[in-house]
Amino acid sequence: MRDKRAIIIKNPRLQKIRNNLRDVIIQAYHIQWKTMFDEMQKISRDRHGKPRSVRSMEVDEIKFYRLLQEQQKEMSSLLDRSILICITCGKGHRDMVYNKAYDAWYCTECYGMERLSAQERVKVKRQRTKSHEGEAIQSHSKTFL
Ligand SMILES: [Zn+2]
Repeated sequence: MRDKRAIIIKNPRLQKIRNNLRDVIIQAYHIQWKTMFDEMQKISRDRHGKPRSVRSMEVDEIKFYRLLQEQQKEMSSLLDRSILICITCGKGHRDMVYNKAYDAWYCTECYGMERLSAQERVKVKRQRTKSHEGEAIQSHSKTFL
């Protein structure tokens, strides 16, 4: 994929279809996440709902629990970096811009604000002393210019 790519849909009917498709996928994500959470609860709780100590769990239970944790973490990361939601504000019913440097999608509003900030930082760049924080901000800004 290119370094930056904007997906803009102007037709309101197509926007509605896009938003509904995003909602369906996000709902599927939440259903899967909840299913995994329930499985983890079965392992980590006794039949009275009280937390079990790790020592009382079987090795296979611990392995399965850790596997579910990893899968949830991976799913969350995929959702966060998908075109379904803006990585900054979390909103989904918006046009999106891809930023390859962060392998993430930003809504046009957040991307616009990042770009504006980056342009302002370029103007004052020469006044700033060199520091790790300053270099990190400068590096971040470059990805939006
Ligand atoms: Zn946003």
